[in-house]
Amino acid sequence: MNNPTRPRLGKTQRAVVIGSGVGGLATAIRLAAAGLKVKVFEAADGPGGKLREQTLGGYRFDLGPSLFTLPDLVMELDALVRDRIGAEADLPAFTYERLDRSTHYFWEDGTRFTAWSDNERFAREAADATGADEAAVLRHLAASHRNYEGTRGVFLAQPLLDIFSRGPRDGWGPLLKALPRLPLRGTLHRLNQKRLGGNKKLVQLFDRYATYNGSDPFRAPAMLDVIPHLEHGIGTYFPAEGMFGITRHLHRLAAALDVEFYFQTPVDRILHDGKRVQGIVTAAAAEHPADVVISNADVHPTYRRLMPDRPAPEKILQQERSTSGLIFYWGVRREFPELHLHNILFSQDYGQEFDNIKTTGTPGDDPTVYINITSKLRPEDAPAGCENWFILINVEANPERFETPEAIASARRQVIAKIERTLGLATDSFASLIEVEDVLTPRGIDERTSSWRGALYGASSNSPFSAFLRHRNRSKDLAGLYFCGGSVHPGGGIPLCLLSGAIAAECVEQDLTRRA
Ligand code: FAD
Repeated sequence: MNNPTRPRLGKTQRAVVIGSGVGGLATAIRLAAAGLKVKVFEAADGPGGKLREQTLGGYRFDLGPSLFTLPDLVMELDALVRDRIGAEADLPAFTYERLDRSTHYFWEDGTRFTAWSDNERFAREAADATGADEAAVLRHLAASHRNYEGTRGVFLAQPLLDIFSRGPRDGWGPLLKALPRLPLRGTLHRLNQKRLGGNKKLVQLFDRYATYNGSDPFRAPAMLDVIPHLEHGIGTYFPAEGMFGITRHLHRLAAALDVEFYFQTPVDRILHDGKRVQGIVTAAAAEHPADVVISNADVHPTYRRLMPDRPAPEKILQQERSTSGLIFYWGVRREFPELHLHNILFSQDYGQEFDNIKTTGTPGDDPTVYINITSKLRPEDAPAGCENWFILINVEANPERFETPEAIASARRQVIAKIERTLGLATDSFASLIEVEDVLTPRGIDERTSSWRGALYGASSNSPFSAFLRHRNRSKDLAGLYFCGGSVHPGGGIPLCLLSGAIAAECVEQDLTRRA
C-alpha cells in the first residue's frame, strides 16, 4: 500500500502510537517512513502484544499466534524501510520458509491425514482417509480461491467506507465477476455441507476455518469460505526465528527509522480539546503532545479507559466478542513422530462443542485440541528428545463465566484424556511426560494485552454484517485520532492487523496532506 511517490511529511508532525502489537508496529513503521516523528508507548516490557515469546526450562514458546500466512505483508514493510535507509544499511533479513503442509488432522476413530500444500495430494489423501469425493474437495478449494480474489480488494485493502465514495482500490471488476457465485447467504457450516456432500470429517475440517477469526461455524456467514484459500492457495509459512521473529523484525524496522519506544509506560489518557487530539498522558502523568494519536489498544479500553469523557460507539462496543483460548505451554519429555508443526485432534461432535462454548463458556469434555510444536522445525526450541507443545482449546471470551482454578484443572484433564484417546496412548500415561508447564487464560490475555475479555480477534464474525460493523480506522468525530489492530477494520489475526496498520497510516497521511 505504500506509495513512494507521495510527498513525505515533515518531522515536525508528531505521532503517538498506543501499543506495540503487530498493528501498532506496522503503523509506526509506515508513519516514520512517511516522515513523521513517531513515539510508541507500550504497557508491557517489550514489543509484540499477543505475539511474544517465553522460555521455560530449556523450552522456548511463542505465546500467541502460531500460524503465519501472507508473509508478503511483512516483506512490504521490510522493503519500505530498506528503501528509506538504503539497501546497504546493516539490517538483518527477515527469513521464513513455505511449508509443504499446513496441518496434521486426527480423529478418535483412528482417521488421520495430512493437509499438504499440494492441493491434489491433500484432496487425494483426504478422500482415501474419509471416503470424500476428491473432485469435490478440489472444487471447494477453487471456489475459496475465486471468492477470495473477488472480495479482497473491498474488504482488506482500504477503509471500508471508501468503497462507497471511491470504489474498491482494484476497481469493481473482480467483485462484479465473483458476485454471481459469492455465498452471500447461509452459514459456513451449511455451505461446507452442501459443497462436500455432507462428508462429516471434511465438513468439520473446513468448518474449523471460522475459528481463524474466533467465530462459530454454525453461526458465521458462508463468506468466511475465503479463509481456506490463505492456507491452501497462498500457503502457510514459518519464520526462521519462530513466530516471535515477526515481532522482532518489525521492532528492528521501526528502530531503523528512529521510532522511539517507551516500554512499561502505559498510556492513561488521550488528550483532546473536544475537536482534535492533542497528545497523551502516561500513567506516570507525563504528557506527550502529538498531532496524531493512533490507538493499537483494543477499542473497548481505548474508549472506556483512555477517553472516559467522550461518547463511546456503544453498538460497536457491545458486539459479540470473538472466542478466546485456554492455552497450555508444555515441555514434553518425548518425541511424537506422527505430529508436525500444526496438529488438530478433532472432537466427535463439533456442533455440540460450539453449543457448549456458547452456553457454558467451554467446549465440555470432548474439546478439539490444537497442538503446535515449533521444535519440529526449530530443534533448538526444546532439549534433545523433547518437544515444546503449545496447546489451545477454544473458549468463550468471558472470564467471569467460567474461569476458576477448578475449571482450568478440569479442562487440563480433558485435554490430556483427549490426547491419550486420539494418539492411542495408555490412559494416564501422558501427564508424567510434562516437565515444565504454564497456562494462559482469557483473563491472562486481557491482563497482558488489554484485549477486552481476552478475545483473540476483537469482535466475532458471527453475523453477516460483522465486516461492516467493525470500528473504522479513523475517528468519526475527533480529528487526529486513528485506530489499528485486531479490534478494528479489517479484523484480527496477524495479516489483517498488518493491513489495519497500512490503512490507519494511509488515513493519517491523507489527512495531514490535506491540512498542509
Ligand atoms: P495486540 O497484540 O492486541 O497488542 C496491543 C498492545 O497494546 C499490547 O502490547 C498492549 O500491552 C498495548 N496496550 C494496550 N493498552 C495500552 C495502554 N493504555 N498503554 C500502552 N500500551 C497499551 N493470529 C494469527 O494470525 N495466527 C494465529 O495462529 C493466531 N493465534 C492466536 C493465538 C493466541 C493464543 C492469541 C492470543 C492470538 C492469536 N492470533 C493469531 C491473533 C493475533 O495474535 C492478534 O490478532 C494480533 O497479534 C493482535 O495484534 P494487535 O495489533 O491487535 O495488538
